[in-house]
Amino acid sequence: MPELPEVETTRRGLEPLIVNRKILSVHIYKKKLRWEIPSHLSKTLTNKVIKKISRRAKYLLIDIDDGQLVMHLGMSGSISVTSSVEPLKKHHHFELKLDNSSSLRFHDPRRFGSILWQKNNEELTLLKNLGPEPLSKEFNDDSLFISSRGKSKNIKDFIMDNNVVVGVGNIYASESLFLAKISPKRESGKTSKSRYKSLTKCVKKILSDAINNGGTTLNDFSNVDGEPGYFSQILSVYGRNGKPCKRCDGIITRILQNQRATYYCPKCQH
Ligand SMILES: [Zn+2]
Repeated sequence: MPELPEVETTRRGLEPLIVNRKILSVHIYKKKLRWEIPSHLSKTLTNKVIKKISRRAKYLLIDIDDGQLVMHLGMSGSISVTSSVEPLKKHHHFELKLDNSSSLRFHDPRRFGSILWQKNNEELTLLKNLGPEPLSKEFNDDSLFISSRGKSKNIKDFIMDNNVVVGVGNIYASESLFLAKISPKRESGKTSKSRYKSLTKCVKKILSDAINNGGTTLNDFSNVDGEPGYFSQILSVYGRNGKPCKRCDGIITRILQNQRATYYCPKCQH
């Protein structure tokens, strides 16, 4: 599943290929994704110039004058820019033909992705209640400590809560807790300020390293079609069940928390 670094890498890859391009036509090949693609998009987007592409949590926002096209990759989505004459694949559900004979295409075999629209000053409910961006100044030494008070859930589920901070997915939650030497089983409301301070630093480091690694694999972005190149960066704990810890002589253990796999070292994470 694409996590925040993959989405940010997608944004960076798309930016030089689509910004300032005019949309010549809009093609909806499969309306029913996670939600229905609004059918007014053809009318709304045609002949408009793409001003900007930004990201909020795992949503990509493509700005035209009067609003934003909001895209989410879901479980298996990917976006590419290719020549408009390239044949479409089975799972291409949406296409914007641009004024330089290229096309932005949305590919999604499992169709949990979404393509939505929001007018200026009418923020979608989906985006309204999101917590701070992990790499922003709003996510600081105090953020986690303050929002954790009175909460009884474990610290891993807590940092994966989009109302607390966005974009800390399952893999990056395990990796950040390992780097911060914090047990994923710790109760969030009873974790000290200094631990949260160090965890905040680790979340920022893990995510920015992942984004920077992703940047280097993007050279042929405009040709990437179909299968997304999700990162296979070196992970310290995730997926390493039964293997030796990279920091001590402990063994990495896998547990289930909220039906999701958590990997950690019981010896050096407390
Ligand atoms: Zn260890």
